[in-house]
Amino acid sequence: MSKVLTAMDKSGSYRVYLTVSTDMTEEARQIHHTTPLATAALGRVLTGAGLMGLMLKNERDRLTVQFKGDGPAREILATAYGDGRVKGYISNPNLELPLKADGHLDVGGALGIGQLTVIKDLGLKEPYIGKISLVSGEIADDLTAYYYISEQQNSSVALGVKIARDCSVLCSGGMIIQMLPDAEEESVDALEAMLAELEPLTTIIERAFLRSAGKSEEGVLQEVLDDIFGNMPEKFVPEVLEFRQMQWQCDCSEDRLTQALATIGKKELREIIDEDGQAELTCQFCEKRYFFDKEHLESIYDEL
Ligand code: ZN
Repeated sequence: MSKVLTAMDKSGSYRVYLTVSTDMTEEARQIHHTTPLATAALGRVLTGAGLMGLMLKNERDRLTVQFKGDGPAREILATAYGDGRVKGYISNPNLELPLKADGHLDVGGALGIGQLTVIKDLGLKEPYIGKISLVSGEIADDLTAYYYISEQQNSSVALGVKIARDCSVLCSGGMIIQMLPDAEEESVDALEAMLAELEPLTTIIERAFLRSAGKSEEGVLQEVLDDIFGNMPEKFVPEVLEFRQMQWQCDCSEDRLTQALATIGKKELREIIDEDGQAELTCQFCEKRYFFDKEHLESIYDEL
């Protein structure tokens, strides 16, 4: 479970969503057995999607963020709900590429040229679908561009995942700054100046942990917020609104997998029953396996 700090500046120009998502990214790594590069890529997507989920109006609203490219990662997908639940996968968890010249993991190279699709299911008849070409494949840039191009909204997304020597997740975090409709013009300049100087988010988070040893998660997030926005003009300094929660959780079930089996078609299902006499399905989000014996398959078949 990760805490998410939400804040708004005094002038009502922008809102901030900020999280340290180390636990969530580590859980995803353990489930999908990802290499460091795949962990970084998936962790960024999960964290970004999780924050975007919390920006939805209702707890049952849902969004899916899909990165698809011609690089070796192929596809990274995450689904998040308005109540903070997040799940996701990367189609190539064994991903490996040389480090970039600056020593960072090459997430952009892993995705290559491709597209970002965001699907928002807000309980209406049709979901809202936005699609853009990848800007850099580094995830945060692409999500920032998505907001600008598809939602005509000025937002800035920062994401970071740092991997430990033993390949576990040392630190993972994310921040979205969302401009509000009545934003003061000067606030945009002040934020741009701040963002131009912004250190990697994981560096700021690690420093906050060192400084606030023994403090609660809320205390650490407050420290990160102060570190980032401390030098803003007084009226643009953000004040904490509330703390929310974000957590890895898969909502798969035997029922859901049964529905999936039912959609493959009568003829195909008959073939599985006659040839294999059983079926094993793996949830692609959490790798949980579901076993269907012959009797169960027959009953699904009968209802088609
Ligand atoms: Zn699952």
